Amino acid sequence: MTNKILVVEDEISIATLLQYNLQQAGYDVVIANDGKDGLHKAILEKPDLLLLDLMLPKMDGMEVCKELRIKKINTPIIMLTAKDDEFDKVLGLELGADDYMTKPFSPREVMARVKAVLRRSKVTEVVKEEEHIEQTYSFGQLQVFPDRFEAFLGEEVLEFTPKEFELLVYLLENKNRVLTRDQLLSAVWHYDFAGDTRIVDVHISHLREQIEENSRKPKFIKTIRGLGYKFEEPKL
Ligand code: CA
Repeated sequence: MTNKILVVEDEISIATLLQYNLQQAGYDVVIANDGKDGLHKAILEKPDLLLLDLMLPKMDGMEVCKELRIKKINTPIIMLTAKDDEFDKVLGLELGADDYMTKPFSPREVMARVKAVLRRSKVTEVVKEEEHIEQTYSFGQLQVFPDRFEAFLGEEVLEFTPKEFELLVYLLENKNRVLTRDQLLSAVWHYDFAGDTRIVDVHISHLREQIEENSRKPKFIKTIRGLGYKFEEPKL
């Protein structure tokens, strides 16, 4: 996907130069010529990166930066400053800028910074996404965290062997579906021949001892006579 860069710069010659170079490098470019328009476009256009001039009409770069962070918009920002701007670099970074550059800068320098900041922000995003999509299963008292290899029944920590846990997770992934013993053997034990299916029964009974209040009257793992098993989401 093409990265979109918002350039907020009131000096037309600089804006044009940046636009030209960024487009040459394959980026989509949006231009804003004052701070207010910059803030507006940063929200509306959802750019992947902002090149944000410090001294701007209507609203300066610091304010734009601050407003965006207040709105929880975490688009990476590279602040552009003139040598004679009284810019406290530390303050800029505290306000949420990711990097800064002092004018005059060469287009090559800008491209290198843009690339670096984008790369950094992509890495952070991936990490966030991974955290975000951690799969959990929760049915009343029973909670299973496949990625952490943890399961709880209320406050109680459940103990499984790796295979038992794998079987449980597989049942959960296919909850409310009937799975035959052969299917379970091949998915969990990777037997692609007809193995001894009793191993499945033994593991199921261990799972029941852990997760069921009464393993003789299982609420979760049901036996489907003549077929196999099913993890049933109980109606709570
Ligand atoms: Ca300016």
